[in-house]
Amino acid sequence: MRHFAVIGAGITGITTAYALRQRGYAVTVIDRQRYAAMETSFANGGQLSASNAEVWNSWATVLKGIKWMLTPDAPLLMNPKPSWHKYSWMAEFLANIPNYRANTVETTRLAIQARKYMFEIAAREGIDFNHEKRGILHIYRDKASYDGAAEVSKLYAAGGLPRRAVTPAEMRALEPTLHGDYYGGFYTESDSTGDIHKFTRGLADAAVRQGVRFVSEASVDMVEHIGTGVRIGWSVAPADENAEPTRETLVADGVVVCAGIGSRDIAAKLGDRVNIYPVKGYSITVMLDDEASQKAAPWVSLLDDKTKIVTSRLGADRFRVAGTAEFNGENRDIRADRIRPLVDWTRKLFPGVSTARVVPWAGLRPMMPSMMPKVDAGKLPGVFYNTGHGHLGWTLSCVTAEMIAEKIAAAMPVETPAGATVHAFPRKAA
Ligand SMILES: Cc1cc2nc3c(=O)[nH]c(=O)nc-3n(C[C@H](O)[C@H](O)[C@H](O)COP(=O)(O)OP(=O)(O)OC[C@H]3O[C@@H](n4cnc5c(N)ncnc54)[C@H](O)[C@@H]3O)c2cc1C
Repeated sequence: MRHFAVIGAGITGITTAYALRQRGYAVTVIDRQRYAAMETSFANGGQLSASNAEVWNSWATVLKGIKWMLTPDAPLLMNPKPSWHKYSWMAEFLANIPNYRANTVETTRLAIQARKYMFEIAAREGIDFNHEKRGILHIYRDKASYDGAAEVSKLYAAGGLPRRAVTPAEMRALEPTLHGDYYGGFYTESDSTGDIHKFTRGLADAAVRQGVRFVSEASVDMVEHIGTGVRIGWSVAPADENAEPTRETLVADGVVVCAGIGSRDIAAKLGDRVNIYPVKGYSITVMLDDEASQKAAPWVSLLDDKTKIVTSRLGADRFRVAGTAEFNGENRDIRADRIRPLVDWTRKLFPGVSTARVVPWAGLRPMMPSMMPKVDAGKLPGVFYNTGHGHLGWTLSCVTAEMIAEKIAAAMPVETPAGATVHAFPRKAA
């Protein structure tokens, strides 16, 4: 039986490990955190949204972005400090503008397929992740942005996604708790929401039950191809703080890199260029502690086009509000001036919701300049990637895991051919 290592225990790593195990591979997941889903897959916007499949590579977005850079509280924030990584990424982002239509249609198609796999997995493994199948409503305050969205609807339709235009009165009927004046909206009934952290942790538990091994608190700093497989290494902090760290390695027949914003460095060690940039976003989880707040918070998920804020209701007592794209390198600070607009937005649109207790969070979207995830083999045999899902990793995770598992099954079938070196499932990582 072939043995694969998966680097990263976020949503992409766990779905990949599960898909490989389902096909009979021995699988070891390695992560620098103690538990699964502790980085970007921790507290995101929660939307399983084919209706957010539009890639950002368009001149309209670039022009808006320039305007936003000069506006305080805008959804986009850029640290102008020069960095080769940032500017090379931006150049590639612009070079992908001609692919806007094709990539939007393809992402829509993938997002629709992804749902099927996710719902099947959740049912099979009995995972409760506060899944709400109540659709996603995009809201617009002016004619120009509404008309722009109508054009995007045509691309979604080409990808197989129907969404319908709704009047302000229909918007209120769909979500009676919503306050404010709107020009109109678009409603995608087939979209849904759920808690990414709960799903990932639930699936990690299922994977363990099925024999997947986990090596945690292992920050991979060495990956090398050894001809017959891949050797992966990390340091282990000693119990005695005065002692030297020790080294551990694991050899597997192949590796799938699912390391989020860490994938770029790991890819470089394997001779591949995977130009992921960390695009920071923020969320607040509004704790709906009293009955009045629970009644005043929406159940239908929203995307506010002007502020680029998304929402999800996570059960009766939690309301998630997320937004912002900040280009500031690998910076995880939770900035008060970015949390404030999320709280203010909640107060304005849902005045009956108490914001006395909100939990702020920041995460780094692992974004490719094309906005398309890298789901492919690397240059060296046995090296694969399922990473770089950007703003849509939760939505796309279950389909890209299937895609990469299928590619692996075609290139390296689960049974090791006679005479080949076997990097068996290790009894312990050593
Ligand atoms: C504010 C915000 C809102 C969002 N809202 C939505 C939404 O509504 N819908 C949607 O579809 N998507 C959304 N996203 C995007 C989605 O959350 C991400 O695309 C997804 O979580 C990325 O998953 P991942 O597995 O690639 O990365 P991660 O979850 O970050 O997992 C990568 C893992 O790799 C590990 N790792 C990295 N480097 C190493 C190393 N060297 N050694 C060992 N381990 C390593 C990390 O510890 C981590 O556990 C949002 C993101 C943000 C920030």
